[in-house]
Amino acid sequence: MGRVIVAGSINMDVVATAERHPRIGETVAGQSVMYFPGGKGANQAVSAAKLGVPTALIGRLGRDGFGAQLRAFLADQGIDLAAVKESTSASTGTAIITLAKADNTIVVIPGANAELGAEDLAQVALAAGDVAVSQFEIPQATIAAFFQRAKAVGATTILNPAPASAFDSGLFALIDVLVLNETELGFLADIELGDAPSLQQVKDAVRALKPNSDQTVCVTLGARGAVAVSDGEARLVEGRAVKAVDTTGAGDCFVGALAARLSQGAPMAEAIGYANLAASISVQRMGAGPSMPSAEEVRALL
Ligand code: ATP
Repeated sequence: MGRVIVAGSINMDVVATAERHPRIGETVAGQSVMYFPGGKGANQAVSAAKLGVPTALIGRLGRDGFGAQLRAFLADQGIDLAAVKESTSASTGTAIITLAKADNTIVVIPGANAELGAEDLAQVALAAGDVAVSQFEIPQATIAAFFQRAKAVGATTILNPAPASAFDSGLFALIDVLVLNETELGFLADIELGDAPSLQQVKDAVRALKPNSDQTVCVTLGARGAVAVSDGEARLVEGRAVKAVDTTGAGDCFVGALAARLSQGAPMAEAIGYANLAASISVQRMGAGPSMPSAEEVRALL
């Protein structure tokens, strides 16, 4: 049994609700302000930890109130935070979200996340059987160094290239499992995929990424489920018919659950099915972190 080691972002999401969005230069009175732990790295670590798998996070916080709150929240989830350091100059990553009539605007300040460097990786010992997970909210050079360490000891690497951005040279070759949604796939393959691409379109777009025969590309398709492509073979895992109330963090739940199952030695196809079930539970609850299911909840669906 391995561990899940996530190198990624930690943010505080500050959500202000109002009747309408202010125009430029205008002030409007809001209704409420809410604070949610977020950042793809933190969310994916919470997903794996809640599923009962030993999980460590490599990240950076600011030396401020949000940093202290996030550290306490993540520790409560049982995540090993020995490799989460405080930056001396940058603030904790923050997303400022204004929400009015279901439309939102978002400003993300990476802050300390942008400072996560190769020197932060030495704090965590990787071993064969571990699963190393990262996303594009930290510098790509750090991800490459992390994956190089992982591959050197025989750990599995999972990259979730979100938000979509071009790959630095060399990084793609270090990935065992690429997990991305339709938007990210369209961007990376440079193909217009539209709203509900067919299986064939998804397969063609994956082929344009030129994965090698050992790499698995897993494309999440929202309510439709996910498609896994390995060695040119595509397999659809159908989404569970559920009543979704909030899909925020569904992708992060999927990635964390996939990593959790792979760290327990499950074959790829089984781990993807497990992630699909876990994410279908998360969409039935509000929020990202709080919506992640426990191992018992997923087991009840198997
Ligand atoms: P987000 O950015 O909202 O976190 P995403 O775009 O990265 O999500 P999606 O493809 O929307 O990721 O969803 C990830 C997974 O969550 C899907 O592959 C599926 O397993 C599950 N899922 C999402 N929406 C639904 C739904 N409405 N019903 C059932 N399962 C869902």
